[in-house]
Amino acid sequence: MKIPFNLPPKSSNEEKYISQAISNKKLSGEGQFNKKCTEWFNKNLPTLMTVITPSCTSALEMAMVLADIGPGDEVILPSFTFTSTANVVALYGAIPVFVDVDPKTMNIDVDAIAKAITARTRVIMPVHYAGVGCEMDKIMDLANKNNIWVVEDAAQGIFASYKGKALGAWGHMAAFSFHETKNIVCGEGGALTINDPRLVARAEIVRDKGTNRQQFLNGQVDKYTWQDKGSSYLLSELSAAFLLSQLEEGEKITARRMAIWKQYYAGMADLEAAGKVQRMTVPAEAKANAHIFYFLLPTMQTRIELWTHLKEAGIQSTFHYVPLHSAPAGLKYGKVSGSMAVTDDHSARLLRLPLWADMTAADAQFVLDEVNKFFKGK
Ligand SMILES: *Cc1c(COP(=O)(O)O)cnc(C)c1O
Repeated sequence: MKIPFNLPPKSSNEEKYISQAISNKKLSGEGQFNKKCTEWFNKNLPTLMTVITPSCTSALEMAMVLADIGPGDEVILPSFTFTSTANVVALYGAIPVFVDVDPKTMNIDVDAIAKAITARTRVIMPVHYAGVGCEMDKIMDLANKNNIWVVEDAAQGIFASYKGKALGAWGHMAAFSFHETKNIVCGEGGALTINDPRLVARAEIVRDKGTNRQQFLNGQVDKYTWQDKGSSYLLSELSAAFLLSQLEEGEKITARRMAIWKQYYAGMADLEAAGKVQRMTVPAEAKANAHIFYFLLPTMQTRIELWTHLKEAGIQSTFHYVPLHSAPAGLKYGKVSGSMAVTDDHSARLLRLPLWADMTAADAQFVLDEVNKFFKGK
């Protein structure tokens, strides 16, 4: 493969920080690097409290524990998302209620959320697809009026904002991912940001196996005990050391991705004008982070043909989510509210091009040339 779909970004201080973490002889989630990553989020989003977690999936799980969802409760989310968003809901016996997405952004449709709200609705989970912010002002209004929690799935949303406010700083809670396929990585890792003061005290207990160990470490109690439901939501200090180096250079990594994204966007303008493709749109209110460059093909058939053409040229392009409402577990645990027309149609015609921070302009041009070659005479 000449051009793989993704390669993880490299930052300057990963080895140095990992060596320091080893020398510090504090390898659990209470070390200095975990603390520094936490402070980075608290200061830069900003947010009230951050837990650096083993994954975005575990951050979403912790959010479900904090929202205290259980059997019969309903959680509204898009069907066009990664498995984890819905899986954490089913894990606690609650019902994922799938709604359609906006055709322009592939983000959750706010009118569809409004129609899906019932007396059992406890949480709304907007997913910032491709790092493009959902309409968070409207979603927060709707949620606050109905006394519903909002948990942003900001797995793809680091260094992006909506109406000038960072993704992950809008909801009552938000979950980020540092999986190697994301913009900022540490192998496997995530973060839960908490923006509502009502959740902070419980979060300290839930993150630490349901104990008040944090109060013990602070000298507030002389022994710690089991207080509440919880789990181990802490990241190893070795991974946190890697993560800090990445966060510190995150602006640069994002800018390098953005340059490639812009090259793709400009390079496909003519194809769009000729009606051959439809490029992704970033609304004026959203500052995106070049997590994904995607476009829609006219049909499912053309998508597979272009995918095959690129593969033969040594370029790895990829489709994206199989809508969860039609997946086996979605059928078993979830339910649908309203039409799924956009989700069904667009998910079958969407293609993502390779995009990573160290990709060169020549790499991107090679991809564009092959895309153009495919459409010649079509
Ligand atoms: C990557 C991703 C996740 C899962 O992240 P992990 O860190 O691998 O658990 C969840 N939701 C969305 C939208 C994602 O893109």
